[in-house]
This record gives sequence, structure tokens and C-alpha cells, in this order.
Amino acid sequence: MQDADTPIARELEDQVRRRTRIAQTKVPKPERTRVMTVANQKGGVGKTTTTVNVAAALAQAGLRVLVIDIDPQGNASTALGIEHHAEVPSVYDVVVEGKPMRDIVQECPDIKGLWCAPATIDLAGAEIELVSLVAREQRLNRALTAHVDELGEEAYDYVLIDCPPSLGLLTVNAFVAAREVFIPIQCEYYALEGLSQLLNNIELIRKHLNPALAISTILLTMYDARTRLSAQVAEEVRTHFPDTVLRSSVPRSVRISEAPSHGLTVMTYDPASSGALSYAEAATELALRGEPSGQ
Ligand code: ADP
Ligand code: MG
Repeated sequence: MQDADTPIARELEDQVRRRTRIAQTKVPKPERTRVMTVANQKGGVGKTTTTVNVAAALAQAGLRVLVIDIDPQGNASTALGIEHHAEVPSVYDVVVEGKPMRDIVQECPDIKGLWCAPATIDLAGAEIELVSLVAREQRLNRALTAHVDELGEEAYDYVLIDCPPSLGLLTVNAFVAAREVFIPIQCEYYALEGLSQLLNNIELIRKHLNPALAISTILLTMYDARTRLSAQVAEEVRTHFPDTVLRSSVPRSVRISEAPSHGLTVMTYDPASSGALSYAEAATELALRGEPSGQ
């Protein structure tokens, strides 16, 4: 049966077309390191998945990328195949103990050009320990700036910070260390709930701690083409943030959710899957757009 008009044949054709386009598009290097905080106060919306897969896609396109995992759960570290048991030097040592970032960064075993500053369970205590420290909101920023400066020509092209789902001092540190906020939004009911609170918090950070911070990128995730709800949420988000939402969206995909249990991103676990293609397209798009001007 070789009917080119079956749904499967059409889907395969579509995938080949997308892979060809991705392979042919050159992903540009930014002029300076782009530091993006991946944030959303809701849990389970795809922050970690987006962080590790966009980072992997950018690295696979030939760029140098650092993922900083500041969620005590350490899910980004797990997905990148990075050791993060309690004895491993981690972001905790950097923000609380003042250790240099270079001493904790590990290279991702599966993807060239991708590094990770891991999170260990100690980080759960950092929220409280940070309260009494000097310059408590600036500690990640200072460590990252020093690390990027010492790398010189070898500096990262992108730094993506994976946040926990709360606005504690760790997340504040991430907002102070970044110039861009990258918000994944799940195409489901209540998707926009909590978003206005996130926007208010970002406004407070801009006013008091980091005037350069801008929401540069929104990515629609877990899009389910079979439901009207997904389409409605997507439309609503695009209407509110016409210039910020990426055209590429990420479908709900079993392959994406399976990858972390193998210590892999979907980019390495199943590079031909529609989830991997979507993340590659999203990464290319955000790189081609560049950093918003006026910063
Ligand atoms: P967060 O970091 O915001 O808490 P995660 O990235 O950990 O969210 O995602 C929450 C759960 O949803 C995880 O189990 C993840 O594997 C799954 N998931 C994320 N994106 C997708 C997707 N596009 N399709 C299917 N499952 C997904
Ligand atoms: Mg997470």
C-alpha cells in the first residue's frame, strides 16, 4: 500500500520537509551572551522541558550553551544526564558559599557545546540561607558575570536558567542575572491563571533590581491539535502578546515526556519526533529574532 494520500504518508512528508528546512537554516550566534530565565509560577507547564530542549537544540546547531538549574528538584540536571546527588558541587555552592561558577559546571555527556550548572537538594535550604546574606538578590548574577567574563572568546552564546515554580529568592536571583524572560505556556485550561502575577513580579524586578529585564519570548507547549481548547488558549495568548509568542508551538508528545527517564533530551532520545522538530524550530526562531532591541 503506497498511497501518498494516507494521513501517515502526509505526516511523513511533512516531517521530511521540516527536517530539511531545519538542516538548511543557519542558526546565528548572538553578538553577546543572551541570558534567559525560563519562568512561570505554575508548576508542570513545561519550564524544564523547554529549557533543556531549547538548550540542546541550540547546542546541536553549533552554539555554546549553559543551562543553570536552580530548581532544587534538579529535573533539568537529570534530563541532561548530569550527576547531581548531594555531594556534587552545585548552584548551592555558588549562591550560598560563593564558589566560582566554573567549579560546578559539568559538560553534558551526549551533546557537544552544552554545559550544565546542576541543582542538588541542598538548594531547597538556600531560599532561607540567602535571606541573611549580603547582596542576596545579586549572587547568581555576580557569579555568572564573572564566569562569562573569564571565558572571553569562549563565552556561552546562550545561558538558560530553569526556575522552580515559586517566586522565592532563587527565582529573584535568576531574574536579576538575566536580560530576558522566556515563558512557556501550557495550552490548557487555567493557562493564563497566575500569568498576571508573574507579569507584576517581573515589573517589580524591573523597577527595583534589574531595569534591563524584558519578556522576550513566549512558547506555547503541550498543544493538542485535536482539542478546541488548545486552539482557543493559543489564540488568546497570541492576541495578548502578538510580538512575543513564537510561531512554532510544541505539541503534546509522549516522546517528550519519556526522554528524561533515560537521562536524555528529546533532541537526542528521538531526534526525528515531532516534539524534537518543534523544539528545533522554536530554538531557530528565537535565535533568528535576536535579543529585543532597546536593552
Ligand atoms: P515544569 O518544569 O514547568 O514543572 P516540566 O517541564 O517538568 O514542567 O513538565 C511537566 C510534565 O509534563 C513532565 O512530566 C514533562 O515530561 C511533561 N511534558 C512537558 N512538555 C510536554 C509535552 N510537550 N508533551 C508531553 N508531555 C510533556
Ligand atoms: Mg521544572
